[in-house]
Amino acid sequence: MNSPDTCLLTELIESHLADNQRTELVTHFAGCDRCTSQLALALKLREQGEAQQSAASSTTAT
Ligand SMILES: [Zn+2]
Repeated sequence: MNSPDTCLLTELIESHLADNQRTELVTHFAGCDRCTSQLALALKLREQGEAQQSAASSTTAT
C-alpha cells in the first residue's frame, strides 16, 4: 500500500474523513514509519499554530 499524501494526513487531523477512511489510514500508519513521523510532525505544527492563536486571542480578550 502506498503512503497517503500529506493532504490526507491533514484531513485526518481535522477529522474531515469518514470513519471507514480514517480507520484505513490509522491502520496504515500503524505499519508505516514514514506516515507516523509525518503525522507527528503535522500534529506538532498544528499544536504550535493553536498555541499562537490562543495566545493572540487571550491578548485581545484582556
Ligand atoms: Zn505510509
